[in-house]
Amino acid sequence: MNKQQQYTGATGITNQPPKPMLYVCAECGHDNEIKRKEPIRCRDCGHRVLYKKRTTRMVQFEAR
Ligand SMILES: [Zn+2]
Repeated sequence: MNKQQQYTGATGITNQPPKPMLYVCAECGHDNEIKRKEPIRCRDCGHRVLYKKRTTRMVQFEAR
């Protein structure tokens, strides 16, 4: 399989340093710095429902 094409088109806006986002655990309220490639998960209790700190929107990631 050739994977070359996979990464070239997906970059979009580049030259931005990876900035960790701040998420607050919906379960224990622990602040989590989560980078883009990392799974959304509380490091304190392992809960997978976290709130984005800036927006009050809830992001939920189902575990498979
Ligand atoms: Zn937690």
